[in-house]
Amino acid sequence: MITDSVERSFKLWFRVLTILLSIFCLSCVHDKAGLGNKKHVTIKSDKGTVLISFRLDDITFSETDKPALEAAVYLARKYNITFDLAVIAKPFDSRQDSKTFEVYQSNQDVFEIVAHGFTHRNPINNNNQEFYDTTVKTEVPFDIQEEHIRQMQQIFERHGMPAATKIFILPCAVGDSNTISLAQKYGYKLIVMRGVPHDKDKRKIIVSDATVGVPMSVFLTEKDISKCKDRFLKLINSGEREIEVYTHFANYRNIESVERLINELKNIDTPGLKKKFGFISEGLTKN
Ligand SMILES: [Zn+2]
Repeated sequence: MITDSVERSFKLWFRVLTILLSIFCLSCVHDKAGLGNKKHVTIKSDKGTVLISFRLDDITFSETDKPALEAAVYLARKYNITFDLAVIAKPFDSRQDSKTFEVYQSNQDVFEIVAHGFTHRNPINNNNQEFYDTTVKTEVPFDIQEEHIRQMQQIFERHGMPAATKIFILPCAVGDSNTISLAQKYGYKLIVMRGVPHDKDKRKIIVSDATVGVPMSVFLTEKDISKCKDRFLKLINSGEREIEVYTHFANYRNIESVERLINELKNIDTPGLKKKFGFISEGLTKN
């Protein structure tokens, strides 16, 4: 009887959580990039090493982020890996929880903060795609984009987070050519975005979509994990040498499955190629 009601309330809690997560970022998962399926810029190298960076997205250092960050620290120590935290500037600046932020502060050897938008919200229709709305294929005006990038960078500068003034993970990985040129204007060196145009003009900014997306769910299935491995190997085989595996705080609510994913990616066979697990910024200093 008691077990039944515990199980029922757990199921209900899980369902509510799943619905909330789906509403929060469904568009991120399913939408295609604003620039279509043009060839993306790759970070290829003849050197026999691939840099693999685990990333934790949508961090604001609110109280609810704390368990995920603690789980990430545990995994980072156990598997000798690091995490880039993709932080949303405005909510972080205005309402961070000090105890949650402390988890980052006391573990800076395994955490690096990178930029993930000013608000993560589209200024026109308030969806999750701050810099380009793929649902109606509408551009965000140049001036508004500039204001968001400028304010985002200012916040990270003020808090003394240098990687977040150089590395910009676009919310939902979507933007347009204005986003790229503005990011370059403000000194960003690497922008992560899907469906980016080919780098024929040899721009100074690196634009990459060499990412492995982990589904935003609490329990990762065998199928989810094998899809991540397939995508990882596909990137390796196409010559990518800097790959990001992006995860979400939901993945850390059940540490077992995300741990298995990390373990399998750590042990994946890459003949003739050394795997290095580290911060995204380590790739930048090399270039
Ligand atoms: Zn995001």
